[in-house]
Amino acid sequence: MNEFQAAPGKTAIVVGGGVAGMSAACALAEAGLRVKLVERRGYLGGRASSYRHPGVDEVIDNCQHVLFGCCTNLIGFYQRIGVAERIRWTSTMTMIEPGGRRTPLKSSRWLPAPLHGLPSLLAAKALTRDDKMALAQAFRKLMQPVPQDSPETLGAWLKRNGQTPGAIDRFWRLVIASALNADVDGIALPYAAKVIRELFLNSAEAGSMGMGTVPLSELYAGAEQFLREHGGEVVFNASVEGAVWDEETSQWTLATRTGEQLADFLVLALPFEGTAQLLPHMPPADGVDALAGQIGKHEHGPICSVHLWFDREITDLDHAVLLDREIHWMYNKSRLQPWRKTKGTYLELVVSASQKFAALSREEAIDLTVRELAEFFPEVAGAKLEKAALVKEVRATFTVPPGIDAARPTAISPWPNCVLAGDWIQTGWPSTMESAARSGHLAAEAVCAAMGGACSYLNPDLKPKGLMRFIRRKQQNSMIFLSQD
Ligand SMILES: Cc1cc2nc3c(=O)[nH]c(=O)nc-3n(C[C@H](O)[C@H](O)[C@H](O)COP(=O)(O)OP(=O)(O)OC[C@H]3O[C@@H](n4cnc5c(N)ncnc54)[C@H](O)[C@@H]3O)c2cc1C
Repeated sequence: MNEFQAAPGKTAIVVGGGVAGMSAACALAEAGLRVKLVERRGYLGGRASSYRHPGVDEVIDNCQHVLFGCCTNLIGFYQRIGVAERIRWTSTMTMIEPGGRRTPLKSSRWLPAPLHGLPSLLAAKALTRDDKMALAQAFRKLMQPVPQDSPETLGAWLKRNGQTPGAIDRFWRLVIASALNADVDGIALPYAAKVIRELFLNSAEAGSMGMGTVPLSELYAGAEQFLREHGGEVVFNASVEGAVWDEETSQWTLATRTGEQLADFLVLALPFEGTAQLLPHMPPADGVDALAGQIGKHEHGPICSVHLWFDREITDLDHAVLLDREIHWMYNKSRLQPWRKTKGTYLELVVSASQKFAALSREEAIDLTVRELAEFFPEVAGAKLEKAALVKEVRATFTVPPGIDAARPTAISPWPNCVLAGDWIQTGWPSTMESAARSGHLAAEAVCAAMGGACSYLNPDLKPKGLMRFIRRKQQNSMIFLSQD
């Protein structure tokens, strides 16, 4: 809890009810500001939300969202709004080959980081001896720091470092590229190295995976309650169309479809394209053109999810990574969310970096998914598909090609008393809920600083464990050295 409390009566408007906006709004409310969170839609969550799908008459997530132990700001935000216990954690990731052979990747309880994943890597049936050797070499090399401005792509690095076709297809493409939602040739090496270190090297705790036991919007309803309890409110169905800064009163006036809103501070917690749409309707200021130029360098990556309800049990697994096919991830929602009391099984299949899949029609996408699923789970062949839904998110994430960091602005905006948030701003993280939560905490710190207060909302990273404790990055020249402590 921070000591700093805003002077009574100070107000802030946060535009955008995604994870970035919610985390900024809750931190500012805790700092004593009267906060209004203004959201265009009728519910919270943004790109991480759920709704009742009319075609299947069920509440579904727009897509399964997973988090990891290293997501310290997202977890901190969940703790603040009292929903952290609604996440179910696991340290096992099961790979399945067509035909059904399983390879569980899990952490050893006995070996120190970064060796904790080694026994299951060595035992992996889905990888050849050469694949395993190549992966072990790659992991060792990626313990070395990669300069953040490296112009190399992951694809070029994999070629240069002797990665086998099996290691590329079954690990790099499926696990790492799909986490970053792009092909290996479109990913800046430092981002891939970060994912490897956080999920596989730093500690078993950092790499453990979390999945919600409730739909996303139900999880985020905790933010609305938190704001109300702290004197704030959420204004739904209010698209912000422009803002005016009054120098004399030092106040912002926002134009929304449902009327004007006034505040001392403004947080724009929008995706990059939403920020671009607002720019022409903001006051002229130095730095606006530069910001527009940065936004222009961003691109989207699509993610698709197929939701299937079968009349019987299909698998005893909660989730799995599916190898060598179009569908990548399976989540067994009947097991993850038992309160649904589904007769039979509700499965969600996720396809990342899915340009090709996103071009399919609904029928084609569902047929392909069921056909492929039957190759992993024989029960599918005899089961009846009761109902199905396809969700295509063409603007799911921003991509992280080399050079993207120069196009990610800080929280400081061109305007007075206005700060930026959103997963795409400078957080060091790829397009994730953690990046969004970090950006929200950074925005809250920037607002407190503008009031002359020092507060810290950014949760620190988890400390590396085991042998990884002794590997430190030397800030100046990016060399590794053995720590003296
Ligand atoms: C299909 C899919 C799968 C994903 N999987 C994962 C995953 O497994 N793990 C993970 O960590 N991340 C995942 N992500 C990424 C994650 O969802 C995003 O990085 C994160 O939610 C972004 O949050 P944000 O607040 O920055 O932006 P957004 O969620 O886009 O929030 C912006 C909000 O602003 C609102 N808005 C826009 N314009 C206006 C306006 N003019 N006035 C008022 N409101 C406005 C929008 O309605 C929205 O609610 C996934 C994303 C998608 C789409």
